[in-house]
Amino acid sequence: MLEITDLHVAYGAIEALKGVSLSVKEGSIACLIGGNGAGKTTLLRAVSGLLPVREGRIQFEGRDIAGQPAEAVVRLGICHVPEGRQNFAGLSVRDNLLLGAYRLYRRSRRGEVEADIQRIFQLFPILERRQRQLAGTLSGGEQQMLAIGRVLMARPRLMLLDEPSVGLAPLLVREILRTIQQLPGRGTTPLLVEQNARAALRIADHGYVMEGGRIVLQGPARDLLADERVRRAYLGRRGEGESKTRT
Ligand code: ATP
Repeated sequence: MLEITDLHVAYGAIEALKGVSLSVKEGSIACLIGGNGAGKTTLLRAVSGLLPVREGRIQFEGRDIAGQPAEAVVRLGICHVPEGRQNFAGLSVRDNLLLGAYRLYRRSRRGEVEADIQRIFQLFPILERRQRQLAGTLSGGEQQMLAIGRVLMARPRLMLLDEPSVGLAPLLVREILRTIQQLPGRGTTPLLVEQNARAALRIADHGYVMEGGRIVLQGPARDLLADERVRRAYLGRRGEGESKTRT
């Protein structure tokens, strides 16, 4: 579905992506993990058309999209949930969801929009209870759910999620990730960027590890979870801790 080949992106003289290749299969969950400053956000922003591409290719369903403006990328069915849950704080939860559907709404398919809102409420029941509340008054977890729900209203085919679990309590992290796991069954393929590597690899099919603007390791998520290098750098030494506790 998404095929990125030898992608280079720079901020002036700072080269943030140094030849990244990555692919996402339709109906699967891909995740990209890596430390601070590895280039994960830069990659998502380049795919979304928010940053210019210096070199390399980005193909979506066989079409070249590198260098396309962000509106064109959205029209093709790629939506981005940026880090920081950028909802419209002064609008209600319901109005935030309606804004997410503005393209459908413009064509006055109101019945469908309402059905989509109901589907979001099934996914995140708390949003139904909070639908009249201003988005700015929601808790962090609820805001993240709304940010995902709002983007889902546009019925994206590919959804780029930038650290959806950041700053959330473990229970909420699990809830958000469980929902992301349901997306392929609903016609949306997620590409997930996470610092919470263990949680992300547990729900993903395929994982990529990024360091210093390059993919340094990739493979089935299950293999990465067991990989000694990944365990040491990103998962902590849980195995050792456990054996110490036992002795
Ligand atoms: P984090 O998890 O901390 O968000 P990341 O993996 O998403 O990290 P990026 O935000 O993509 O990393 O940053 C990659 C590199 O590009 C870093 O060295 C960062 O300092 C640099 N960078 C990011 N944004 C800019 C910018 N607007 N101007 C200059 N350099 C930038």
